[in-house]
Amino acid sequence: MSLRHYFDASHQLPDTDNLVTKACARLHGHTYAVIVEIEADTVKGGMIIDFKAVKNTIDVLDHQHINDIFDRFEFNHEPTAENIAKFLSKQIEKELDFKATVSICEGYKGAERASWVTHTP
Ligand SMILES: [Zn+2]
Repeated sequence: MSLRHYFDASHQLPDTDNLVTKACARLHGHTYAVIVEIEADTVKGGMIIDFKAVKNTIDVLDHQHINDIFDRFEFNHEPTAENIAKFLSKQIEKELDFKATVSICEGYKGAERASWVTHTP
């Protein structure tokens, strides 16, 4: 099963040497694209998983400041695309009991200009 979803959110990264351009050290927002992939052998009631339940799990980040959400969920990582993918993978496993591979594209401007990161549990 593969599902694509989008959300809008803000974040701010600490100004460290790893942050080459410094752009993400300023408070700013993105439209994030998310791809969730779930492999399951069993189909219950004609479906692997309720798509809306997956989207609801992702939407905990929608129109939020991701730094605040990570604090609220005690997910002690900086809100990079890599860590957002890891956070959503963990949330899907916790709430829906499925292991999900989650890919994130930050600042989505169309498939031909997209850069993705993927977290595999
Ligand atoms: Zn950013």
